[in-house]
Amino acid sequence: MEFKNKSVFELKELLEKKTVTSVEMTKYFLDRIESLDQDLNAYIQVSDKALDEAKKADDKIQAGEKGRLLGVPVGIKDLLCTRGIQTTAASKMLEGFVPPYSATVVEKLQSEGAVVLGKLNLDEFAMGSSNENSYFGAVKNPWNKEYVSGGSSGGSAAAVAAGLAPVTIGTDTGGSIRQPASFCGVVGMKPTYGRVSRYGIVAFASSLDQAGPLSRTVKDAALISEVISGFDENDSTTSERSVPQWSASINESLKGKKVGLVKEYFESKLHESVQEQMDRAIEFVKEAGAEVVEVSLSLSRLAIPVYYMVATSEASSNLARYDGVRYGYRSNFDEKPASSLDDFYERNRGEGFGSEVKRRIMLGTYALSSGYYDAYYKKAGQIRRLLAEQFQKAFEKCDVLMGPVTATPAFKLGDRISDPLEMYLNDIFTTSANLVGIPGMSVPMGFSKEGLPVGVQLMSSSFSEQVLFDVGSALEQRADIWKGLPNGY
Ligand code: GLN
Repeated sequence: MEFKNKSVFELKELLEKKTVTSVEMTKYFLDRIESLDQDLNAYIQVSDKALDEAKKADDKIQAGEKGRLLGVPVGIKDLLCTRGIQTTAASKMLEGFVPPYSATVVEKLQSEGAVVLGKLNLDEFAMGSSNENSYFGAVKNPWNKEYVSGGSSGGSAAAVAAGLAPVTIGTDTGGSIRQPASFCGVVGMKPTYGRVSRYGIVAFASSLDQAGPLSRTVKDAALISEVISGFDENDSTTSERSVPQWSASINESLKGKKVGLVKEYFESKLHESVQEQMDRAIEFVKEAGAEVVEVSLSLSRLAIPVYYMVATSEASSNLARYDGVRYGYRSNFDEKPASSLDDFYERNRGEGFGSEVKRRIMLGTYALSSGYYDAYYKKAGQIRRLLAEQFQKAFEKCDVLMGPVTATPAFKLGDRISDPLEMYLNDIFTTSANLVGIPGMSVPMGFSKEGLPVGVQLMSSSFSEQVLFDVGSALEQRADIWKGLPNGY
């Protein structure tokens, strides 16, 4: 039996009806990973506990126990701690680190019976937009292996697209779930800041980071979001609000809903395939009964500088902990003893971090230094606040914003990696949601002329995720999303 293009809901039904066991299903995906991933490079590590977990799930199914994901295999971005399974953040700095505990997100998935297949590749410390910054090598795009998978959750997106996991978890600090989802043709959901616990997730920029699902369908994204959301006493920024049953409440009729188009997004230069898919999306929401209105977000043009100021500043502080003393990479001092304390740190950090991570630590440290703090970090914070006000105003006029995820489809491997600024510009449409804390989702719409997937982005006000799932489902149905997998998968 083939499971590679089935949704989580379909797999759940097969397991519940005992048509297949979790061990059989898990083995199916492990076999696919073994035969197909060498070239794709989506996984950093496969879990040697997966079959044991599947066996336990089968026992529970036999005993009539319930779980929202009982026996369903999932893949986890290697930025989330997994007890007993190496967690690297795709960095030499953490190679060989085996955490003694799991991230709350992983705990929540496992407590509903999910089976962890393994850990997925990413840009080092989630810094990047193409997955080319990984210490373990780039992830290829399954639709065309000369192209990037997107980043930083490139492994999480490519694995779902290639049928190497039915659903995966990614993280999104400035677009890292939505952008690779769009590049690989899967659904990617970044929940409201504070919905999902960051406990046990290797920190990049704490005021922006949020975990969420990458999946084949919008309904699957809703279900996984339900499972991983909720208050956590280990993360004081999590919200105490109750978590709605989004997946059971999806309403595809958009009658009475207002969809806002951001004027400034369409004034920028969009690739013709992106424009074409946007036009289809606009037709589709109208067909589903929505009214389309225009809104303005003049400050969104500053999203990139503000984001890169905030993200690098927070990163420089978060990454100070990797000094090679308590944990993390330590240089070989037996061979060549340290000449001073500074030399000790310099060698550990100099050898353990890759060049993009170093660039960001330097940028952030500079922005936070006493002479420049007011001019850079403080100013960025002020614009961030004003941007949030503009979004709030926009949401007085509409229920959901619809726009592009990126200005172009996936680009070629190697094309942008030597120009950091060009790479950063790729995040122009995604970073605002993180700066403002609102939820955002990427839904596959169609293909470019070159055969690469193109997604559409939806954003709503904080804690109103339901409307994203509603509009996302309406789009998904009409876009006649391919059920097939890329050639060769
Ligand atoms: N591409 C953005 C960056 O490089 C976003 C990364 C992310 O969301 N983790 O910072």
